[in-house]
Amino acid sequence: MHSSYLNSIAISVEKQGPARVKKARLPLRHGKYSEIRTSDYEFMFNLNGEIKFIRGLNSKWPHPAEQLKRTDGNDWVFYSVGDDSSENGIISWLGEYYLPCLPYTSNSIWEINYCSNPEVMNAFAAWSRLYADLHEFRRDHLHTKAKELIELILNNHDGVLHERSQRLNAIIGGRVSVLPPDTRHVDYEVIPLMIADGCLYHCNFCCVKSAHKFMPRPTTDVIEQIRRLRDFYGRNLENYNGLFLGNHDALEAGEELIVFAALEAYSAFGFGGRQAMTPLLFLFGSVHSLLKAKNSLLEKLNLLPFYTYINIGFESIDTPTLAHIGKPVDESKVLDGFEKMLEINATYPNLEVTGNFIMGEQLPPAHYQSLGEFLQGATVPIRGKGAIYLSPLKDSPKKRELLPRFLEIKKQSKIPIFIYL
Ligand code: SF4
Repeated sequence: MHSSYLNSIAISVEKQGPARVKKARLPLRHGKYSEIRTSDYEFMFNLNGEIKFIRGLNSKWPHPAEQLKRTDGNDWVFYSVGDDSSENGIISWLGEYYLPCLPYTSNSIWEINYCSNPEVMNAFAAWSRLYADLHEFRRDHLHTKAKELIELILNNHDGVLHERSQRLNAIIGGRVSVLPPDTRHVDYEVIPLMIADGCLYHCNFCCVKSAHKFMPRPTTDVIEQIRRLRDFYGRNLENYNGLFLGNHDALEAGEELIVFAALEAYSAFGFGGRQAMTPLLFLFGSVHSLLKAKNSLLEKLNLLPFYTYINIGFESIDTPTLAHIGKPVDESKVLDGFEKMLEINATYPNLEVTGNFIMGEQLPPAHYQSLGEFLQGATVPIRGKGAIYLSPLKDSPKKRELLPRFLEIKKQSKIPIFIYL
């Protein structure tokens, strides 16, 4: 690592955090990054010189473990530790030590409007000030590497960062509207690669569905995306350990396309060079695509050089609730799918299927009763594999009030349960 000092700021050109994402009470730092510290803030940049994290260092900052993170979609997310940092708090609800708060309305069980926090707004102002200062400061005495870093940072002003997020959307053919909950294991840092559009169901309750019918992408499109994504991520590619094959039901895209896309991406994105951890592959599946998945597909997925998470939207095991939310499956199909999830988790060491169910104030009591009883009786052949995620419906009022209900189900369940945001 090389450090330089410019007026009162300390510049670390390249720092090396742990190569794999660790779950810790401390702010997340992994991979290679650059850092600039002032007396009041810590600014972290990725290997392309794009601002990534901002954290306050003085006593006015809400909590030493809280920070702002900028996503590849150019959204600022505030990582909050909430009001209960004990083992019964956020870690037990989310499986993580922080709650990511988005700048727009999401399905969070706990709405935090970070934009109304003056200290968070001061952090943004400090970032603007630092950017202006970097422009003004004389840099002749600095080490060449520090000068190069400052040039890179100055090249990535707000307009460029916005354009880059638009470019990412253009490469993959749309915005990533939702990520599988399992991507929390890499702090949601995944390279998106679209292999199909649309989905099979078009459920009424869903706020991320597209109007399109399910349609796999041609392999030529996948190859072109990979080529452009490699160029887009540039040097920072080496900091990614996760690949998301999108969009809402990639499992339905079929054996050939899934395996082709995963292997092409593995080699083009250099996942083979990551020594510290097996790269992770994430995809969504539906009850139908899961039930349809043949052993040959599962065997091939299991043999990929990834550890693969497949996340299935079950939503409910109560037929009237499924009808109420407009999901065209019944409880027998959901139960068959659940059975298959447990079987896959027990059979394939490199595959992990996880499931989603919904929560909402307006859902019938039978939904909660059937879910609680079912999870209480479910057998878990491999402990710790195959988490269940409960997701609050987006327009459910009083989401925080859903927490006791979640905790009740969690207490009953033999399978690990978390909230999905
Ligand atoms: S919940 Fe899943 S399957 Fe249903 S409309 Fe949304 S994306 Fe499609």
